[in-house]
Amino acid sequence: MHKRLAILGSTGSIGTQTLGIVSRHPDLFSVDTLAAGSNAALLAEQAKLHRPARVIIGNEAFYAMLSNELSGLGIEVLAGQDAIEESVRAGTVDTVVAAMVGFAGLRPTAAAVAAGKEIALANKETLVVAGEMITSIAAETGSRLLPVDSEHSAIMQCLNGEPEGMVEKIILTASGGPFRTTPAHRLARVTPLEALRHPNWSMGSKITIDSATMMNKGLEVIEAHWLFGTPEEKIEVIIHPQSIIHSLVQFSDGSVKAQLGVPDMRLPIIYALTYPERVQTGLPRPSLTETGSLTFEEPDPERFRCLPLARTALRRGGNMPCALNAANEVAVAAFLHNEIGFFDIAGTVEHVLEKTDFESEASLEVYHETDRRSRSLATEYIRKLKKK
Ligand code: NDP
Repeated sequence: MHKRLAILGSTGSIGTQTLGIVSRHPDLFSVDTLAAGSNAALLAEQAKLHRPARVIIGNEAFYAMLSNELSGLGIEVLAGQDAIEESVRAGTVDTVVAAMVGFAGLRPTAAAVAAGKEIALANKETLVVAGEMITSIAAETGSRLLPVDSEHSAIMQCLNGEPEGMVEKIILTASGGPFRTTPAHRLARVTPLEALRHPNWSMGSKITIDSATMMNKGLEVIEAHWLFGTPEEKIEVIIHPQSIIHSLVQFSDGSVKAQLGVPDMRLPIIYALTYPERVQTGLPRPSLTETGSLTFEEPDPERFRCLPLARTALRRGGNMPCALNAANEVAVAAFLHNEIGFFDIAGTVEHVLEKTDFESEASLEVYHETDRRSRSLATEYIRKLKKK
């Protein structure tokens, strides 16, 4: 089952872990395409090691540097978002690992789905923004969407072999992030550095802030809705600080299945790449006696308003989740630059949702226009906040 991979976002947290898996399993995987944003130095290093057919840098300003580094190696070097989008259609690509962060991942992932490729999907924003469009194109082309997110990987594993129509509810677990027990008055003043200290997972900065605000769990509710066709009210979220149970499914007979593992993204990545097979790995095993106890709590919708806001966007449907995502991306970047406070992230998202006109059409044009307008609304709102 040798697979040739196009890894989009190869220089990021998921991308580098995927390349680690490729190095350990050369019999199973090879690299056809590597694509990244601006980190030309790391991209060149990866290309020298993995010898893909083509390498693409999203930010054209770094093309000359990358091209110089790789000259004479017989690797095609390209630049720009169009080149990334085009590359996923190549006949030499079996599986596209969609591991770019944010809205930027939508176009190439949509192109790969339209081309009928298998997708190992880390870029949850794609389904948040365009779940309706992506799932309907996938149904036409036969493109398989295999989740990399550990929660959705867990749900997929719980659903394996089960009859259709017997799911009573999906239960997504959340670690609670670094501020699970932080009181509201302290939360108002937390710094980006504190927010970036996730207790269980080491990830890129955007998703780490999303975990701290619990927007990540909101995005995952939307992702689960599209991946598994489950209505919003049948997707529950519970806090499980140990991150050993990655999610659960409750069936109509009252039985509940869960998937367990250590918090290590290499496990869901390799499962997405080998599904429906399993392979021998040297990854760490969980020790339940060492963990001692597994605990659970309700999420707090007052301190973590991003979660209910994401649910509202999903219920309203259409372009609302796209607006939510754009506002969140702008607000997270502003928080990381120390421009706004922690609670202003939810405030920005709420403001943009209120100001967004509903659009029901599921098309790339609508998503692009909604994304553009929402970013400008969010930027304006943040500019006013900074003046106060
Ligand atoms: P990182 O920030 O670590 O990496 C993001 C990657 O995307 C980098 O390779 C970056 O390139 C690339 N990128 C960003 N913008 C562009 C662009 N315009 N064109 C081309 N490449 C671009 O993110 P993560 O790996 O943490 O997350 C990636 C995705 O996976 C996110 O959607 C996240 O929600 C999801 N995910 C991540 C998990 C994790 O454990 N990290 C867990 C579950 C889901 P460069 O750095 O070179 O600019």
